[in-house]
Amino acid sequence: MDHRLLIDGELVDAENGELFDNINPATEEVIGRIGNASAADMARAVAAARSAFDTTDWATNRELRKTCLLQLQAAIEAEQEEFRHELVAEVGCPILTTYGPQLDAPLREALTWPAEMIDEFEWVRSLGPKDAFGTGDTMREVWKEPVGVVGVIVPWNFPVEITLNKLGPVLAMGNTLVLKPAPDTSANATRLARLIAEKTDIPAGVVNIVPSADHLVGEVITTSPDVDLVAFTGSSATGRRIMEAGAQTLKPVFLELGGKSANIYLDDADFDAVLPGAVFSCMHGGQGCAIPTRLLIPRSRYDAAVDALGEAFSNWAYGDPTDMANMQGPQVSKKQQDRVLGYIEKGVAEGARLVTGGGRPAHLDKGFYVEPTLFADVDNSMTIAQEEIFGPVICAIAYDDDEDAIRIANDSDFGLSGNIFSGDLERAKKMAHRIRTGTLGLNGGVWYGADAPFGGYKNSGIGRQCGIEGLEIYTETKTVGWPA
Ligand code: NAD
Repeated sequence: MDHRLLIDGELVDAENGELFDNINPATEEVIGRIGNASAADMARAVAAARSAFDTTDWATNRELRKTCLLQLQAAIEAEQEEFRHELVAEVGCPILTTYGPQLDAPLREALTWPAEMIDEFEWVRSLGPKDAFGTGDTMREVWKEPVGVVGVIVPWNFPVEITLNKLGPVLAMGNTLVLKPAPDTSANATRLARLIAEKTDIPAGVVNIVPSADHLVGEVITTSPDVDLVAFTGSSATGRRIMEAGAQTLKPVFLELGGKSANIYLDDADFDAVLPGAVFSCMHGGQGCAIPTRLLIPRSRYDAAVDALGEAFSNWAYGDPTDMANMQGPQVSKKQQDRVLGYIEKGVAEGARLVTGGGRPAHLDKGFYVEPTLFADVDNSMTIAQEEIFGPVICAIAYDDDEDAIRIANDSDFGLSGNIFSGDLERAKKMAHRIRTGTLGLNGGVWYGADAPFGGYKNSGIGRQCGIEGLEIYTETKTVGWPA
């Protein structure tokens, strides 16, 4: 495990020489140590990113950017298996998920699609001539330019996926950046740092990677006048704090935050086929912001549906994340395990009915595991239906008719994702227009991709990651005119 920071093109120790532990949440063992950056390290990284933006040709040299992104892609692919096993060890994610969303899916396109888009992006848009003030025609163009220095702050649940889906667009658009990984999962970031320094021609200072055990070292990014934009993925509470801190320098913030998404099962859906799949919400211990954790079921079919769900939950394989049979490993840390167990207690106290799970699994004596847990008879006003638990805790909620389902789905501070299942796709689409979320799957469709904008309404965020929207967010707009 590489412990070094990447600042101004150099792989370095933290200035104070400190290290912090990287813990495997499945075994509770220390598997490595990472450099513990201070606020001074972070300030140096910000200064390096500023200088690289202001003094190199990175912002204007599109060929270099394309070359570097493809070099980085090749370098990561050369260590893909090392990334895979290190991710399983530090995140506790089931290895099967690394063949999909944790690693292989983003690795297919998170860097290469933005690299391709460098040529296709509409950098210049002509508005044509106009005589705005009666003084003669003026030609006008709209130019897209990089924002400048981007502060990238990421969480621990899908660290490589989120990091690459930020790095690709940020760099493709000509920005420089400072990346702060989450303390629990910094090994993938220090590996990336070494690859950038040793295997690419990315100029010194264009990418800086600064891990720290101290969350507040991230505040150097959010308060510095030298950072032009903050791109953050994490909890809504931290997102709010970042926005407040950024307000002092009127910093634009791009926030990907939490969710409390709903699966809506319409009364014409094939319940036998689609209901058991709801247990996949326990995948990766429920530690995914877009995972649907509220199941909305027609009251007329509720009891049978809860029975079927209970059976699916009881048959769900979980445990050792290195075992290909398991789709759920531990929670990332003891802190998260305790938090999830606290929510389960609250659900019971508020009167929800525990159908399966509800505690620590008896057969796993090590690791921060929580049983896959299904609550029935949940009222949408209960805490477990309103707050993001980030654990394998799923709520089955009855609704009366379609209007009631829409009301309940939208009765949330969040608006990130969800699914609608129906025997009639057009009926599902009609309802989809009324659900206030940034993404939706219809009848099991998957919306994900480097070309697909992802983000939330309401407290689930501001802005979109990926897609054209996710490139534009890292640009400034300049309108110019000259006599026609
Ligand atoms: P978190 O908000 O605690 O931390 C996220 C990152 O922010 C970490 O790197 C942390 O060190 C840093 N940070 C914390 N306080 C900071 C501050 N004051 N200034 C600057 N940086 C600070 O979130 P987490 O616990 O790591 O992740 C779980 C949360 O992330 C969940 O709520 C989940 O829904 C959300 N999430 C959202 C998405 C999305 O795309 N919408 C994706 C993954 C996770």
